[in-house]
Amino acid sequence: MDFDDTPDEAAWRAEVRAFLAEHKDELGDRNGRRELDQETSRRRQALLYDAGYVGVTWPVEAGGRGGTPMQQAIIDQEMARAGIPGLINLIGIGMCGPTVIGHGSDDQKERYLQRLLRADDVWCQLFSEPASGSDLAALRTKAVQDEQGDWHISGQKVWTTLAHLSDYGILLTRTDPDVAKHRGLTMFVVDMKAPGVTVRPLRQMTGGAEFNEVFFDDVVIPDRERLGEVGDGWRVALTTLMSERLTLGGGGGDIGMNVERVAEHVAARIGELPPERQALVRQDFGRAYVATLGMRYTGYRLLTALSKGSLPGPEASAGKLAGTRAALDLADLAVRLLGDDAVYGAEPDGAGTWQSLQAGLPGMAIAGGTNEVLRNIIGERVLGLPPEPRADKDRTFRELAAAGA
Ligand SMILES: Cc1cc2nc3c(=O)[nH]c(=O)nc-3n(C[C@H](O)[C@H](O)[C@H](O)COP(=O)(O)OP(=O)(O)OC[C@H]3O[C@@H](n4cnc5c(N)ncnc54)[C@H](O)[C@@H]3O)c2cc1C
Repeated sequence: MDFDDTPDEAAWRAEVRAFLAEHKDELGDRNGRRELDQETSRRRQALLYDAGYVGVTWPVEAGGRGGTPMQQAIIDQEMARAGIPGLINLIGIGMCGPTVIGHGSDDQKERYLQRLLRADDVWCQLFSEPASGSDLAALRTKAVQDEQGDWHISGQKVWTTLAHLSDYGILLTRTDPDVAKHRGLTMFVVDMKAPGVTVRPLRQMTGGAEFNEVFFDDVVIPDRERLGEVGDGWRVALTTLMSERLTLGGGGGDIGMNVERVAEHVAARIGELPPERQALVRQDFGRAYVATLGMRYTGYRLLTALSKGSLPGPEASAGKLAGTRAALDLADLAVRLLGDDAVYGAEPDGAGTWQSLQAGLPGMAIAGGTNEVLRNIIGERVLGLPPEPRADKDRTFRELAAAGA
């Protein structure tokens, strides 16, 4: 693969870069002190969408641009380079939208997709529950259909990112406990403002509260909001999960971490250290930087495969695994260099930037597949090791639940 831009890619990069520079003030700076509220974040996404820079790879009929994964990667790289904060509707664009595109009715596509891209509506992904995360098919939230055809939802979800700001969510439920656990699931679009939906933010160690518990107390969802067939929710969820891995682990980006920014930080502080420690810091930085490059080039390999029409494979899992580790090492290094300033929050470079990254990144090693589960995927699909034993395969969900599995 040639790592240099083709003439077309170079022209695209120049166009994107010029737009971002021209609108820098409206787009904001993720490393600056300015807190960006919800309205600002929605406006930022609308501005980028109207310019043609959101949903680039989405089909034109879904409100996208019908562009290439490489064009999208160039936008991501240029936004990171310009220090522009990520899009508020990343979960909507990366996970919910592709699921509606893949399994939604024409009516759902018409009502939801373009609004999602402009952040007129923010979306969340309601999959995990207190007893089902890695083993997603063990979920218990129940959907029962009444005589009019409406569905009644009862149960609890947890760790739902952005639920407190969301207008809609994709919701995975159990509609039939008397078949094997993967086969009795059904997916819906849920209106997060519907009666019976309660969202309770959970405080994280960063001090923020970006994810939530969500309770469903006899929430009514009309049948036209079903995504895919009854009982086919697992297949629908696989579309979401595949898109999620691609969003988190592919595309050549840096997970939540701008490496050049860390390099500037290291360069600014290293002179304050005794010479013998300077060498160690350089080594630490070099090691983490190389790992980040490994992630970036794995991302390029994935982009090449996608450009040739292949589906994302285990590269995305490897990318997420390596990227999370490298980002954590870099954040640790940045905070160590701050020394006492890290404790007192007297950091000159945007108060709390490095501390909140260091506290937030461990969550990335859990969200969208834990490191252990990603290693299982790599072991099975890349190294060809034997698959995990599946004792639950031939039992119904009801039997498993009764046995406390
Ligand atoms: C920042 C953040 C954001 C999130 N956002 C969302 C969201 O928007 N929507 C949503 O639905 N969920 C979300 N989640 C939930 C996330 O998907 C789950 O936390 C994740 O799938 C792990 O599930 P769990 O927490 O139930 O842990 P468990 O699955 O109970 O795992 C506990 C431990 O056991 C290990 N383990 C489990 N199974 C295996 C196995 N087969 N082999 C080896 N080790 C194993 C795990 O790796 C882990 O270390 C988010 C989580 C975080 C941290």
